[in-house]
Amino acid sequence: MMHIGVMGGTFDPIHLGHLRAAEEIYWALGLDRITFVPAARPPHKEEEFEASALHRYEMVSLATVYTPYFSVSPIELSRPGRSYSVETLREFRKLYGAENAIYFIMGVDAFLDIATWKEAQELLSLAQVIVAARPGWRLDEVERHMTSEQRQLLGNPRFEYVKISAITRETAKAHHEPRPVLLVEVVSLDISSSEIRQLVKEGRSIRYLVTDTVAAYIGKNRLYCSGQKLIGECEAST
Ligand code: ATP
Ligand code: MG
Repeated sequence: MMHIGVMGGTFDPIHLGHLRAAEEIYWALGLDRITFVPAARPPHKEEEFEASALHRYEMVSLATVYTPYFSVSPIELSRPGRSYSVETLREFRKLYGAENAIYFIMGVDAFLDIATWKEAQELLSLAQVIVAARPGWRLDEVERHMTSEQRQLLGNPRFEYVKISAITRETAKAHHEPRPVLLVEVVSLDISSSEIRQLVKEGRSIRYLVTDTVAAYIGKNRLYCSGQKLIGECEAST
């Protein structure tokens, strides 16, 4: 039996907050691998200073290349139209079969929105959802702020708070249907992609917020630079 983590996101760009959360969850749950799934973005939504899907995919690739148990999937990029996590998880289910366990990893900010996602209840049934802590959001808000409509939409899931140090692979495996949503306290880094894009735009350093390979890629491809800025200005960040 394989235990596979799946972490979706726009990864614009991928940063050490994503990587560290994934790393801790990988070891704590004894996963076999974690696959990062960059989301495509509908073309009309692409904003001027955001990176294309291919650039984002390439950066996830560069950030994970030295970690044998991290990989990147183009599954949402090759699918036309909007990216829905439920469809991605259905495809992973098909790929891995019912005998393997899938863990869908998301930050608490993303989970707070989940009732608005396509087929949210179905999504919760396709994978064991792992919600990772993130600075600025409290894990206990997840339950407190959920309205009864939202709970119902999600099929009244059970929530379980766990310290990363208290998790074992057995904890994760022991959960039978209906699975609780696991809220895990990871060492969360206060890093966001939007902050990184802002720093690059201002020509400031992003070193130690992203891997060196990603910083170099951003510089080389002049991502997140404003068109009006002088050429030299964006380069300080690399
Ligand atoms: P943006 O600022 O553009 O929204 P982001 O930093 O939130 O970017 P996303 O690509 O939106 O990054 O996030 C992908 C997933 O990773 C989401 O589930 C999000 O909650 C989670 N995540 C992002 N940053 C962190 C972090 N520092 N610690 C833990 N989880 C995170
Ligand atoms: Mg985000």
